[in-house]
Amino acid sequence: MVSWGGVTRYIAGETAPVATDTINYVADETKGSVETVAKSAAKGIVEGIAAGRGTGATSFCPHCGAGGVQVNYKFCPECGKPLATS
Ligand SMILES: [Zn+2]
Repeated sequence: MVSWGGVTRYIAGETAPVATDTINYVADETKGSVETVAKSAAKGIVEGIAAGRGTGATSFCPHCGAGGVQVNYKFCPECGKPLATS
């Protein structure tokens, strides 16, 4: 049984593609009805990362005002414009 909390912490030290691999693995193992749940879980994980859960280092996009943008992001996940780095 996968602990989503543990998965989130694991992913926090890695990158988003790891989450995709994990979800693909889960979907392969179960197929069918669970696939939708897996996709929802993936979305939740991505949103959790976007909200900075586990890092606490977030900022706001200066272009569109989106919150929860990780400070190490080079581009805004909402509007795609480059974020100022300092
Ligand atoms: Zn933006």
